[in-house]
Amino acid sequence: MSRWSVPALPACTCCIGCARPASVGGTWYWNRYPGARCDIQTIDYSYTFDPELERAWQWSEKYATQPEILRYLGFVTDRYDLRRDIRFGTKVTAATWEHAADRWLLTTDHGASVSCRYYIMATGCLSAPKPPEIDGVKDFKGEVYFTGRWPHEEIKLAGKRVAVIGTGSSGIQSIPMIAEQAAHLTVFQRTPNFALPAHNGPPPADRMALLEGDRAGYREQARMSLAGVPWPQQMSVSWQLSDAERRERFEKAWAAGDLVYILTQLWADQGVDVDGNSLLADLIREKIRTIVKDPETAAALSPHDHPFGAKRPCLDTNYYTTYNRPNVTLVNLRQEPITGITASGIKTGKRGFDVDVIVFATGFDAMTGAIMAVHPITGRGGKSLSDVWANGPQTYLGLTVAGFPNLFMITGPGSPSVLSNMAVSIEQHVDWTVDRLMAMREAGYTTMEATDTAQAGWARHMADCSTLTLHRLANTWYTGANVPGKAWGVMPYTGGVGPYRTICDEIVSRGMLGFRLTGPNVAEQCNDGEVVRLQPDVRLVLNMLADMNLPPIESFGAQGARDFVAQFNAARPAGRPVGEVVDGTLAGADGPLPYRLYRPATPGPHPIVVYFHGGGWVLGDEQSDDPFCRDMCRRTGMSFVSVGYRHAPEHRFPTAAEDGYAATRWIAEHAAELGGKPGPVMVAGWSAGGNIAAVTCQLARDRGGPQISGQLLVCPVTDCTFDRPSYHENATGYFLTRSLMYWFWDLYCSPADRTDPRVSPLRGKLENLPPALVATCEFDPLRDEGVAYAQAMAAAGVPVEQLNARGHFHSSLTMVDVVITGVAARVQMANALRRFAGLPPERKEGDEGVRPRSDRLAA
Ligand code: NAP
Repeated sequence: MSRWSVPALPACTCCIGCARPASVGGTWYWNRYPGARCDIQTIDYSYTFDPELERAWQWSEKYATQPEILRYLGFVTDRYDLRRDIRFGTKVTAATWEHAADRWLLTTDHGASVSCRYYIMATGCLSAPKPPEIDGVKDFKGEVYFTGRWPHEEIKLAGKRVAVIGTGSSGIQSIPMIAEQAAHLTVFQRTPNFALPAHNGPPPADRMALLEGDRAGYREQARMSLAGVPWPQQMSVSWQLSDAERRERFEKAWAAGDLVYILTQLWADQGVDVDGNSLLADLIREKIRTIVKDPETAAALSPHDHPFGAKRPCLDTNYYTTYNRPNVTLVNLRQEPITGITASGIKTGKRGFDVDVIVFATGFDAMTGAIMAVHPITGRGGKSLSDVWANGPQTYLGLTVAGFPNLFMITGPGSPSVLSNMAVSIEQHVDWTVDRLMAMREAGYTTMEATDTAQAGWARHMADCSTLTLHRLANTWYTGANVPGKAWGVMPYTGGVGPYRTICDEIVSRGMLGFRLTGPNVAEQCNDGEVVRLQPDVRLVLNMLADMNLPPIESFGAQGARDFVAQFNAARPAGRPVGEVVDGTLAGADGPLPYRLYRPATPGPHPIVVYFHGGGWVLGDEQSDDPFCRDMCRRTGMSFVSVGYRHAPEHRFPTAAEDGYAATRWIAEHAAELGGKPGPVMVAGWSAGGNIAAVTCQLARDRGGPQISGQLLVCPVTDCTFDRPSYHENATGYFLTRSLMYWFWDLYCSPADRTDPRVSPLRGKLENLPPALVATCEFDPLRDEGVAYAQAMAAAGVPVEQLNARGHFHSSLTMVDVVITGVAARVQMANALRRFAGLPPERKEGDEGVRPRSDRLAA
């Protein structure tokens, strides 16, 4: 008999079995396959809303099995007497917003319709199994099971020939257990996945001690963490660690058997940078080769098509060793795709496999599948959710949808959900939603609806967050790529659980920003807007600075401010390695000046870029923009010579300008000695350094050289007026303040000199200057004077490329490896410099690899 649907449950119309549950448990009710257990440590995968509940339940294992988790969920249900409020065996088939009544009408397949004010969908992210998409399944005469719809009664596999299709978490957990029972197991693998040993056992003593030592603190740390499990933020980056140090960290993580640990605790760049990630992926592949005896099988099991963590990694018990068993065969579908299923088994392009049982561990229509399964969901004005989401889910916070009042989705697409400890994320959504409903009731509102502006802003913020991670580089269920025809896009919020929680709270403290609230006897309230306009990492940096509650930098005095900058810089990630770093001195306008030369690892001679650091003509030195110089040296393949020009107040105007010019002349004359290409040089600078670079170009034009082939001006000071809009809009709160700029100007230049083009280049002659790239940042007081300079040069016939960095602040583009969203701007800047030098653009396949992976999977 073909066991196509689960016999104990009502027959269904789709092939997988749209069965109705008879009890609580959700994912843990359905996923009863052998080996099913959680892969977040169970002490973290628990409710935390009631300390007494926490004391009333003891987990028996580090990673509890499905039966134990289901028992726990039943225990909670009974403890709070919830069963009487639950209608089991009832499927919601459609939902309609009834405008006249301000209520939802839910149609069900069992009993009367339900009218409700609020419709909260807690339908789960991984609860709609996807069809297998393989021809001939119905012809198969043996038994068929889906891991996500496993029968309730015991399934006997002993003595049978079993096939498992799929090697995601469900496949990887069940394969070792099935192999122990089956006469023979054939595993059909399309994409190999990274898996780590769980090392299951009793809950680890060290984590238990942490939890029991300060339960409330432990839970709070989890709520504010990135993934919903309390581990500290890892600060060291891969290139700061030796091979031996990295291996030691890796071995510790492998022995720890904890996904969140390995994803967050090895080195800070492994989740955001392809190079940092591949160091870890290589170590895992090495483990696979060590464990799996047959080299061909080991190679087939080694993932190469996605960064570690970009596709959901798995936690296993004896997964790789299972392939050393004589009764287990791996079929690599990349070499021989499945062509169909027959009455007796599975056929690939090369051969046929007769089997008695087929287990589909083929996954889910994730995140949107269970929501869209209620069809139609009709919102305001007859709009259907499936139309609104035709190109991918659109939400505000992953909780609400514009046009669908009073509809809430617990852990919906657009929230951290599946990228976090679900227990923490579910509690946060439930708390936030319930608090909002209570506040509405108190204030007399009856509807709450996201605005289009807020929703569009959230989509932008989601996209900004996902450029920070490597998720965009993999075809996974996170992106919808596992379901043919589904719109491609990273669906969960990748900005982290803690930041997400603070955003939700900020929305409330800003008067329900982005929501329209209405009620029969109260005035409508709509505080429209976007909650996050900053890039996510900029927001983190600025929040961190705000938390430090620093006095204004100008209050330290010049020397105090210099010490502060030095201390601040000492705490940032070290710049990446370049070929060589050489310190030396050059001839300035009035005596020797220090310089630092950054030479690429490639054979020279290289074109030379003369670089001027930032610091308002007062702060910094030739080493203070070290990570930026290293990064640009690597990206451009050019030598950067960072000049230690003299500072105010000891050396006031025009010293910095004259030093800059003299240094450029000296460097151009000594290019060969410096290992550079003789001929024209380029100039670059950030902030006051951008000012010096711009001035140098004007002086070089007017004083007969040196020849300059291009200028890169990053957030430059170009003018002495302070009344442009950006000076007002961004006067405070974005680190560089208006008052700090006043202080810089006062120390460097007396009011009488300020209109001199050597400090206000915007007031100089702009014809015949070298081609330029001018980069400005949205939340920078200097934004508009940078834009004005770019426009004025362009009007004077200078070829100008303008880069406006959305969501960035004055320091964004130079804070390498801190403000990672600045990478795209640095790629553009590097390409401009290469163009100035007559070189083709160079795209490093790496952290700036922003291509989305929309190519579909081929079976
Ligand atoms: P999954 O990760 O989507 O894996 C499905 C597997 O089936 C993949 O290997 C996929 O290959 C393969 N597949 C799908 N369609 C196929 C076809 N037509 N032909 C051949 N192979 C096909 O699904 P899952 O294993 O059920 O896990 C889903 C998620 O549930 C997990 O990522 C995890 O978040 C959660 N989960 C958690 C636990 C836990 O321990 N707590 C356990 C199970 C699941 P491709 O990769 O090539 O698409």
